Amino acid sequence: MRSAVVVGAGVGGLAVAGALARSGWQVTLLDRAERVRPEPTAVVLWPNGVRALQALGLGAGLAAIATPLPDGGVRRPDGHWLVQPRPTPADRMPVVVHREDLHDALIAGLGDRVELRTGVTVRHVRVEPGERPGVNDGRHTIEADLVVAADGTDSVIRRQLAPESGVVSSGCAAWRAVIPWYRAPRLPADQPIAGEVLGAGYRFVAASLGERGSSGGSSRGGIYWVATAAGAPRPEPPETQLALLRRWYAGWPAPIAALLDATDPSDLVQQEVRELRPLPRAYGFGVGPGGVVLLGDAAHAMPPHLGQGACLAFEDAATLASLLREARLPDAVQTYDRVRRPRAATVVRQTRRMSAVLQTRGRLALRARDAALGTINSRLLSSAAASAAQWRPPA
Ligand SMILES: Cc1cc2nc3c(=O)[nH]c(=O)nc-3n(C[C@H](O)[C@H](O)[C@H](O)COP(=O)(O)OP(=O)(O)OC[C@H]3O[C@@H](n4cnc5c(N)ncnc54)[C@H](O)[C@@H]3O)c2cc1C
Repeated sequence: MRSAVVVGAGVGGLAVAGALARSGWQVTLLDRAERVRPEPTAVVLWPNGVRALQALGLGAGLAAIATPLPDGGVRRPDGHWLVQPRPTPADRMPVVVHREDLHDALIAGLGDRVELRTGVTVRHVRVEPGERPGVNDGRHTIEADLVVAADGTDSVIRRQLAPESGVVSSGCAAWRAVIPWYRAPRLPADQPIAGEVLGAGYRFVAASLGERGSSGGSSRGGIYWVATAAGAPRPEPPETQLALLRRWYAGWPAPIAALLDATDPSDLVQQEVRELRPLPRAYGFGVGPGGVVLLGDAAHAMPPHLGQGACLAFEDAATLASLLREARLPDAVQTYDRVRRPRAATVVRQTRRMSAVLQTRGRLALRARDAALGTINSRLLSSAAASAAQWRPPA
Protein backbone atom coordinates (compact mmCIF):
# COMPACT_ATOMS: atom_id res chain seq x y z
CA MET A 1 0.00 0.00 0.00
CA ARG A 2 1.34 3.45 -0.88
CA SER A 3 1.90 5.74 2.07
CA ALA A 4 1.79 9.50 2.60
CA VAL A 5 2.66 11.84 5.44
CA VAL A 6 0.65 15.05 5.35
CA VAL A 7 2.12 17.83 7.50
CA GLY A 8 -0.52 20.32 8.65
CA ALA A 9 -4.20 19.74 9.38
CA GLY A 10 -5.54 23.05 8.08
CA VAL A 11 -8.14 22.98 5.31
CA GLY A 12 -5.57 21.94 2.67
CA GLY A 13 -4.04 19.11 4.71
CA LEU A 14 -7.43 17.76 5.83
CA ALA A 15 -8.76 17.79 2.25
CA VAL A 16 -5.79 15.98 0.73
CA ALA A 17 -5.41 13.47 3.59
CA GLY A 18 -9.05 12.36 3.22
CA ALA A 19 -8.79 12.15 -0.57
CA LEU A 20 -5.64 9.99 -0.47
CA ALA A 21 -7.11 7.70 2.18
CA ARG A 22 -10.26 7.24 0.10
CA SER A 23 -8.01 6.20 -2.83
CA GLY A 24 -6.45 3.48 -0.69
CA TRP A 25 -3.33 5.26 0.59
CA GLN A 26 -2.11 4.79 4.12
CA VAL A 27 -2.08 8.36 5.45
CA THR A 28 -0.50 9.87 8.56
CA LEU A 29 -1.62 13.45 9.23
CA LEU A 30 0.55 15.50 11.59
CA ASP A 31 -0.19 18.81 13.25
CA ARG A 32 1.79 20.77 15.82
CA ALA A 33 -1.39 21.90 17.63
CA GLU A 34 -2.57 19.73 20.52
CA ARG A 35 -6.11 20.10 19.23
CA VAL A 36 -6.94 20.72 15.61
CA ARG A 37 -9.63 23.35 15.39
CA PRO A 38 -10.55 26.14 13.01
CA GLU A 39 -10.91 29.85 13.66
CA PRO A 40 -14.50 30.90 14.48
CA THR A 41 -14.79 32.84 11.21
CA ALA A 42 -16.05 32.07 7.72
CA VAL A 43 -14.65 31.62 4.24
CA VAL A 44 -15.91 32.54 0.79
CA LEU A 45 -15.62 29.73 -1.74
CA TRP A 46 -15.64 30.68 -5.41
CA PRO A 47 -16.83 28.20 -8.06
CA ASN A 48 -13.31 26.77 -8.44
CA GLY A 49 -13.16 25.96 -4.71
CA VAL A 50 -16.64 24.43 -4.80
CA ARG A 51 -15.75 22.37 -7.88
CA ALA A 52 -12.52 21.16 -6.25
CA LEU A 53 -14.44 20.04 -3.15
CA GLN A 54 -16.93 18.22 -5.38
CA ALA A 55 -14.02 16.51 -7.19
CA LEU A 56 -12.72 15.46 -3.76
CA GLY A 57 -16.07 13.78 -3.07
CA LEU A 58 -17.13 16.42 -0.51
CA GLY A 59 -19.82 18.14 -2.59
CA ALA A 60 -22.79 16.79 -0.64
CA GLY A 61 -21.28 17.82 2.70
CA LEU A 62 -20.59 21.30 1.32
CA ALA A 63 -24.10 21.75 -0.10
CA ALA A 64 -25.51 21.24 3.39
CA ILE A 65 -23.46 24.07 4.94
CA ALA A 66 -22.98 26.66 2.18
CA THR A 67 -24.97 29.88 1.78
CA PRO A 68 -25.03 31.53 -1.68
CA LEU A 69 -23.36 34.95 -1.72
CA PRO A 70 -25.06 37.39 -4.12
CA ASP A 71 -23.06 40.28 -5.59
CA GLY A 72 -23.48 43.23 -3.22
CA GLY A 73 -21.50 45.75 -5.31
CA VAL A 74 -18.74 48.11 -4.11
CA ARG A 75 -19.32 51.48 -2.43
CA ARG A 76 -17.19 54.36 -1.20
CA PRO A 77 -17.36 55.28 2.51
CA ASP A 78 -19.74 58.14 1.59
CA GLY A 79 -22.17 55.58 0.12
CA HIS A 80 -21.45 56.44 -3.54
CA TRP A 81 -21.54 53.31 -5.72
CA LEU A 82 -18.22 52.45 -7.35
CA VAL A 83 -19.55 49.20 -8.79
CA GLN A 84 -23.30 48.54 -8.78
CA PRO A 85 -24.51 45.09 -7.68
CA ARG A 86 -25.24 42.85 -10.62
CA PRO A 87 -27.12 39.57 -10.90
CA THR A 88 -24.58 36.73 -10.79
CA PRO A 89 -24.97 33.77 -13.16
CA ALA A 90 -25.34 30.53 -11.20
CA ASP A 91 -21.97 29.18 -12.39
CA ARG A 92 -20.20 32.28 -11.00
CA MET A 93 -22.03 32.54 -7.68
CA PRO A 94 -19.67 32.13 -4.69
CA VAL A 95 -20.84 30.64 -1.40
CA VAL A 96 -19.94 31.52 2.17
CA VAL A 97 -19.30 28.81 4.75
CA HIS A 98 -18.64 28.92 8.48
CA ARG A 99 -15.09 27.57 9.00
CA GLU A 100 -16.25 25.31 11.84
CA ASP A 101 -18.86 23.73 9.52
CA LEU A 102 -16.21 23.30 6.82
CA HIS A 103 -13.82 21.76 9.34
CA ASP A 104 -16.51 19.27 10.46
CA ALA A 105 -17.13 18.28 6.82
CA LEU A 106 -13.40 17.81 6.16
CA ILE A 107 -12.93 15.77 9.36
CA ALA A 108 -15.89 13.58 8.35
CA GLY A 109 -14.10 13.10 4.99
CA LEU A 110 -11.06 11.59 6.78
CA GLY A 111 -13.11 8.49 7.59
CA ASP A 112 -11.33 6.08 9.92
CA ARG A 113 -8.31 5.38 7.73
CA VAL A 114 -6.23 8.48 8.43
CA GLU A 115 -3.97 8.39 11.46
CA LEU A 116 -4.15 11.91 12.91
CA ARG A 117 -1.29 12.74 15.30
CA THR A 118 -1.48 16.07 17.09
CA GLY A 119 1.18 17.83 19.14
CA VAL A 120 3.85 16.86 16.57
CA THR A 121 5.96 19.74 15.25
CA VAL A 122 7.87 18.81 12.13
CA ARG A 123 11.33 20.39 12.11
CA HIS A 124 12.99 18.87 9.09
CA VAL A 125 12.21 17.04 5.85
CA ARG A 126 14.61 14.27 4.83
CA VAL A 127 15.53 14.30 1.14
CA GLU A 128 18.38 11.85 0.52
CA PRO A 129 19.19 10.50 -2.96
CA GLY A 130 17.83 6.99 -3.49
CA GLU A 131 15.78 7.01 -0.25
CA ARG A 132 12.09 7.62 0.40
CA PRO A 133 11.38 11.07 1.85
CA GLY A 134 10.63 11.50 5.55
CA VAL A 135 9.85 14.13 8.16
CA ASN A 136 11.47 14.54 11.54
CA ASP A 137 10.17 16.20 14.71
CA GLY A 138 13.56 16.25 16.44
CA ARG A 139 13.07 12.76 17.87
CA HIS A 140 11.61 10.43 15.24
CA THR A 141 11.61 10.21 11.47
CA ILE A 142 8.46 9.11 9.69
CA GLU A 143 9.14 8.08 6.13
CA ALA A 144 6.62 7.56 3.35
CA ASP A 145 6.33 7.43 -0.44
CA LEU A 146 4.92 10.95 -0.47
CA VAL A 147 5.30 13.92 1.88
CA VAL A 148 2.69 16.67 1.50
CA ALA A 149 3.76 19.98 3.02
CA ALA A 150 0.44 21.61 4.00
CA ASP A 151 2.02 23.41 6.94
CA GLY A 152 0.87 26.92 6.09
CA THR A 153 2.59 30.23 5.40
CA ASP A 154 5.56 29.58 7.69
CA SER A 155 6.13 26.06 6.28
CA VAL A 156 9.42 24.60 7.55
CA ILE A 157 9.42 22.20 4.60
CA ARG A 158 9.20 25.03 2.06
CA ARG A 159 11.93 26.95 3.88
CA GLN A 160 14.17 23.92 3.45
CA LEU A 161 13.29 22.99 -0.16
CA ALA A 162 12.58 26.44 -1.61
CA PRO A 163 14.58 28.90 0.54
CA GLU A 164 14.38 31.53 -2.22
CA SER A 165 10.72 32.12 -1.27
CA GLY A 166 10.30 34.43 1.74
CA VAL A 167 7.34 35.49 3.87
CA VAL A 168 6.69 39.24 3.82
CA SER A 169 4.00 41.51 5.25
CA SER A 170 1.37 42.61 2.72
CA GLY A 171 1.23 45.98 4.51
CA CYS A 172 -2.17 45.47 6.12
CA ALA A 173 -3.94 43.73 8.97
CA ALA A 174 -7.32 41.98 8.89
CA TRP A 175 -10.09 41.62 11.48
CA ARG A 176 -12.83 39.05 11.06
CA ALA A 177 -15.86 37.95 13.06
CA VAL A 178 -18.98 35.87 12.78
CA ILE A 179 -21.84 37.43 14.75
CA PRO A 180 -23.95 34.40 15.73
CA TRP A 181 -27.50 34.43 14.35
CA TYR A 182 -29.09 34.98 17.78
CA ARG A 183 -27.06 38.19 18.30
CA ALA A 184 -27.17 39.45 14.71
CA PRO A 185 -28.85 42.85 14.22
CA ARG A 186 -32.28 42.81 12.58
CA LEU A 187 -31.79 44.84 9.43
CA PRO A 188 -34.52 46.43 7.28
CA ALA A 189 -35.56 44.15 4.41
CA ASP A 190 -34.30 46.67 1.82
CA GLN A 191 -30.83 46.81 3.40
CA PRO A 192 -28.70 44.00 1.96
CA ILE A 193 -25.96 42.58 4.17
CA ALA A 194 -23.64 41.43 1.39
CA GLY A 195 -21.34 44.04 -0.10
CA GLU A 196 -18.01 45.75 0.01
CA VAL A 197 -16.99 49.29 0.99
CA LEU A 198 -13.60 50.70 -0.03
CA GLY A 199 -11.84 53.68 1.57
CA ALA A 200 -8.28 54.98 1.63
CA GLY A 201 -6.41 51.88 2.77
CA TYR A 202 -9.54 50.54 4.49
CA ARG A 203 -12.01 47.91 3.32
CA PHE A 204 -15.10 46.30 4.86
CA VAL A 205 -16.90 43.25 3.45
CA ALA A 206 -19.95 41.49 4.92
CA ALA A 207 -21.89 38.33 4.07
CA SER A 208 -24.86 36.52 5.56
CA LEU A 209 -24.53 32.92 6.74
CA GLY A 210 -28.31 32.71 7.09
CA GLU A 211 -30.26 31.73 10.18
CA ARG A 212 -29.47 28.55 12.01
CA GLY A 213 -31.19 25.64 10.33
CA SER A 214 -32.46 27.76 7.42
CA SER A 215 -32.50 25.69 4.28
CA GLY A 216 -29.16 25.59 2.50
CA GLY A 217 -27.60 27.83 5.16
CA SER A 218 -24.81 27.28 7.63
CA SER A 219 -25.82 25.06 10.52
CA ARG A 220 -24.30 27.76 12.71
CA GLY A 221 -25.75 30.82 10.96
CA GLY A 222 -25.01 34.48 11.54
CA ILE A 223 -23.30 37.38 9.79
CA TYR A 224 -19.66 37.28 8.71
CA TRP A 225 -17.61 40.42 8.24
CA VAL A 226 -13.99 41.12 7.41
CA ALA A 227 -12.25 44.48 7.70
CA THR A 228 -8.76 45.25 6.39
CA ALA A 229 -6.72 48.30 7.24
CA ALA A 230 -3.30 49.43 6.05
CA GLY A 231 -0.64 49.08 8.75
CA ALA A 232 0.37 46.56 11.37
CA PRO A 233 -1.85 44.49 13.68
CA ARG A 234 -2.80 46.24 16.92
CA PRO A 235 -1.19 45.15 20.18
CA GLU A 236 -4.17 46.28 22.33
CA PRO A 237 -6.77 43.89 23.77
CA PRO A 238 -9.79 42.94 21.58
CA GLU A 239 -12.10 45.46 23.35
CA THR A 240 -9.77 48.31 22.31
CA GLN A 241 -9.33 46.89 18.81
CA LEU A 242 -13.11 46.83 18.41
CA ALA A 243 -13.33 50.44 19.63
CA LEU A 244 -10.67 51.39 17.07
CA LEU A 245 -12.59 49.62 14.29
CA ARG A 246 -15.74 51.55 15.28
CA ARG A 247 -13.77 54.79 15.03
CA TRP A 248 -12.11 53.91 11.69
CA TYR A 249 -15.41 52.86 10.10
CA ALA A 250 -17.61 55.59 11.70
CA GLY A 251 -19.92 57.15 9.11
CA TRP A 252 -19.44 54.29 6.62
CA PRO A 253 -22.62 52.96 4.96
CA ALA A 254 -25.09 50.81 6.90
CA PRO A 255 -25.03 48.13 8.18
CA ILE A 256 -21.33 48.50 9.17
CA ALA A 257 -21.94 50.37 12.47
CA ALA A 258 -24.72 47.91 13.44
CA LEU A 259 -22.43 44.95 12.70
CA LEU A 260 -19.55 46.37 14.75
CA ASP A 261 -21.96 47.16 17.62
CA ALA A 262 -23.29 43.59 17.58
CA THR A 263 -19.76 42.10 17.59
CA ASP A 264 -18.47 40.83 20.91
CA PRO A 265 -14.71 41.25 21.55
CA SER A 266 -14.52 37.45 21.89
CA ASP A 267 -15.83 37.11 18.28
CA LEU A 268 -12.87 39.11 16.93
CA VAL A 269 -9.96 37.41 15.08
CA GLN A 270 -7.06 39.71 14.20
CA GLN A 271 -4.32 38.71 11.78
CA GLU A 272 -1.35 40.28 10.03
CA VAL A 273 -1.76 39.76 6.26
CA ARG A 274 1.33 38.10 4.80
CA GLU A 275 2.34 36.62 1.49
CA LEU A 276 5.15 34.69 -0.22
CA ARG A 277 7.58 36.70 -2.35
CA PRO A 278 8.71 35.29 -4.66
CA LEU A 279 6.63 32.15 -5.04
CA PRO A 280 8.68 28.95 -4.62
CA ARG A 281 10.47 27.96 -7.84
CA ALA A 282 8.86 24.49 -7.64
CA TYR A 283 5.87 22.84 -5.96
CA GLY A 284 7.01 19.25 -6.49
CA PHE A 285 10.36 17.61 -5.66
CA GLY A 286 11.24 14.06 -6.70
CA VAL A 287 13.00 12.26 -3.83
CA GLY A 288 14.29 8.74 -4.47
CA PRO A 289 11.32 6.63 -5.57
CA GLY A 290 8.87 9.14 -4.07
CA GLY A 291 8.46 12.86 -3.66
CA VAL A 292 7.52 15.94 -1.67
CA VAL A 293 4.88 18.49 -2.73
CA LEU A 294 3.91 21.92 -1.40
CA LEU A 295 0.17 22.56 -1.01
CA GLY A 296 -2.04 25.45 0.15
CA ASP A 297 -0.52 28.46 1.91
CA ALA A 298 2.80 26.61 2.15
CA ALA A 299 2.96 26.93 -1.64
CA HIS A 300 1.22 30.24 -2.36
CA ALA A 301 0.19 32.32 0.69
CA MET A 302 -1.37 35.54 -0.64
CA PRO A 303 -3.47 38.44 0.67
CA PRO A 304 -7.17 37.54 0.97
CA HIS A 305 -8.44 40.29 -1.37
CA LEU A 306 -9.87 37.85 -3.93
CA GLY A 307 -10.78 35.16 -1.37
CA GLN A 308 -8.78 32.51 -3.21
CA GLY A 309 -6.32 31.02 -0.65
CA ALA A 310 -8.48 28.13 0.56
CA CYS A 311 -9.99 27.68 -2.92
CA LEU A 312 -6.49 27.14 -4.35
CA ALA A 313 -5.64 24.73 -1.51
CA PHE A 314 -8.68 22.64 -2.53
CA GLU A 315 -7.63 22.85 -6.19
CA ASP A 316 -4.15 21.61 -5.17
CA ALA A 317 -5.67 18.71 -3.21
CA ALA A 318 -8.08 17.71 -6.01
CA THR A 319 -5.31 17.89 -8.63
CA LEU A 320 -2.84 15.88 -6.58
CA ALA A 321 -5.38 13.19 -5.69
CA SER A 322 -6.42 12.86 -9.34
CA LEU A 323 -2.82 12.71 -10.64
CA LEU A 324 -1.90 10.06 -8.08
CA ARG A 325 -4.81 7.90 -9.22
CA GLU A 326 -3.54 8.03 -12.81
CA ALA A 327 0.27 8.13 -12.70
CA ARG A 328 3.25 6.68 -10.89
CA LEU A 329 4.56 8.76 -8.02
CA PRO A 330 7.59 10.62 -9.46
CA ASP A 331 5.63 11.45 -12.63
CA ALA A 332 2.59 12.62 -10.66
CA VAL A 333 4.81 14.91 -8.57
CA GLN A 334 6.34 16.42 -11.72
CA THR A 335 2.95 16.95 -13.35
CA TYR A 336 1.59 18.50 -10.14
CA ASP A 337 4.44 21.00 -10.26
CA ARG A 338 3.90 21.73 -13.95
CA VAL A 339 0.14 22.29 -13.53
CA ARG A 340 -0.13 24.03 -10.17
CA ARG A 341 2.68 26.57 -10.29
CA PRO A 342 1.41 28.59 -13.29
CA ARG A 343 -2.14 28.40 -11.93
CA ALA A 344 -1.09 29.80 -8.53
CA ALA A 345 1.10 32.44 -10.23
CA THR A 346 -1.92 33.71 -12.21
CA VAL A 347 -4.11 34.07 -9.12
CA VAL A 348 -1.28 35.72 -7.16
CA ARG A 349 -0.79 38.23 -10.00
CA GLN A 350 -4.51 39.11 -9.96
CA THR A 351 -4.41 39.42 -6.16
CA ARG A 352 -1.42 41.79 -6.30
CA ARG A 353 -3.20 44.05 -8.78
CA MET A 354 -6.16 44.11 -6.42
CA SER A 355 -3.83 44.93 -3.49
CA ALA A 356 -2.51 47.94 -5.42
CA VAL A 357 -6.08 49.21 -5.98
CA LEU A 358 -7.09 48.60 -2.37
CA GLN A 359 -4.07 50.20 -0.81
CA THR A 360 -4.22 53.46 -2.76
CA ARG A 361 -3.84 56.42 -0.37
CA GLY A 362 -3.46 60.17 -0.79
CA ARG A 363 -6.14 62.53 -2.07
CA LEU A 364 -5.11 62.75 -5.73
CA ALA A 365 -4.35 59.07 -6.03
CA LEU A 366 -7.70 58.29 -4.40
CA ARG A 367 -9.60 60.55 -6.76
CA ALA A 368 -7.90 58.86 -9.71
CA ARG A 369 -8.62 55.47 -8.20
CA ASP A 370 -12.29 56.27 -7.60
CA ALA A 371 -12.64 57.60 -11.14
CA ALA A 372 -11.07 54.45 -12.53
CA LEU A 373 -12.34 51.99 -9.97
CA GLY A 374 -15.66 51.33 -11.66
CA THR A 375 -13.83 49.91 -14.64
CA ILE A 376 -10.59 48.66 -13.04
CA ASN A 377 -12.35 46.88 -10.23
CA SER A 378 -15.11 45.35 -12.28
CA ARG A 379 -12.62 44.34 -14.99
CA LEU A 380 -10.23 42.91 -12.42
CA LEU A 381 -12.99 41.15 -10.53
CA SER A 382 -14.48 39.81 -13.75
CA SER A 383 -11.13 38.38 -14.87
CA ALA A 384 -10.61 36.88 -11.40
CA ALA A 385 -14.19 35.56 -11.40
CA ALA A 386 -13.73 34.20 -14.92
CA SER A 387 -10.52 32.41 -14.00
CA ALA A 388 -12.27 31.04 -10.88
CA ALA A 389 -15.29 29.94 -12.90
CA GLN A 390 -13.20 28.33 -15.64
CA TRP A 391 -11.05 26.07 -13.48
CA ARG A 392 -11.90 22.40 -13.85
CA PRO A 393 -10.36 19.52 -11.90
CA PRO A 394 -8.23 17.21 -14.04
CA ALA A 395 -10.38 14.48 -15.60
C1 LIG B 1 -8.37 37.59 6.64
C2 LIG B 1 -8.37 36.39 5.76
C3 LIG B 1 -9.52 36.08 5.02
C4 LIG B 1 -9.50 34.98 4.15
N1 LIG B 1 -10.61 34.71 3.42
C5 LIG B 1 -10.57 33.71 2.50
C6 LIG B 1 -11.73 33.44 1.70
O1 LIG B 1 -12.78 34.08 1.85
N2 LIG B 1 -11.65 32.45 0.76
C7 LIG B 1 -10.51 31.70 0.59
O2 LIG B 1 -10.49 30.80 -0.28
N3 LIG B 1 -9.42 31.92 1.37
C8 LIG B 1 -9.42 32.90 2.31
N4 LIG B 1 -8.33 33.13 3.09
C9 LIG B 1 -7.13 32.27 2.92
C10 LIG B 1 -7.29 30.93 3.64
O3 LIG B 1 -7.67 31.15 4.98
C11 LIG B 1 -5.96 30.18 3.60
O4 LIG B 1 -5.45 30.19 2.30
C12 LIG B 1 -6.15 28.74 4.04
O5 LIG B 1 -6.72 28.67 5.33
C13 LIG B 1 -4.82 28.00 4.01
O6 LIG B 1 -4.99 26.69 4.46
P1 LIG B 1 -3.75 25.73 4.65
O7 LIG B 1 -4.32 24.42 5.06
O8 LIG B 1 -2.87 25.78 3.45
O9 LIG B 1 -2.88 26.36 5.82
P2 LIG B 1 -3.24 26.59 7.35
O10 LIG B 1 -4.69 26.78 7.54
O11 LIG B 1 -2.33 27.68 7.83
O12 LIG B 1 -2.86 25.23 8.09
C14 LIG B 1 -1.53 24.87 8.34
C15 LIG B 1 -1.53 23.83 9.45
O13 LIG B 1 -0.19 23.34 9.60
C16 LIG B 1 0.13 23.24 10.97
N5 LIG B 1 1.61 23.36 11.07
C17 LIG B 1 2.34 24.45 10.77
N6 LIG B 1 3.65 24.19 10.93
C18 LIG B 1 3.72 22.91 11.33
C19 LIG B 1 4.81 22.05 11.67
N7 LIG B 1 6.09 22.48 11.60
N8 LIG B 1 4.56 20.78 12.06
C20 LIG B 1 3.28 20.33 12.13
N9 LIG B 1 2.20 21.10 11.83
C21 LIG B 1 2.43 22.37 11.43
C22 LIG B 1 -0.63 24.37 11.63
O14 LIG B 1 -0.86 24.11 13.00
C23 LIG B 1 -1.93 24.39 10.81
O15 LIG B 1 -2.92 23.55 11.38
C24 LIG B 1 -8.32 34.19 4.01
C25 LIG B 1 -7.18 34.48 4.78
C26 LIG B 1 -7.20 35.58 5.64
C27 LIG B 1 -5.97 35.88 6.43
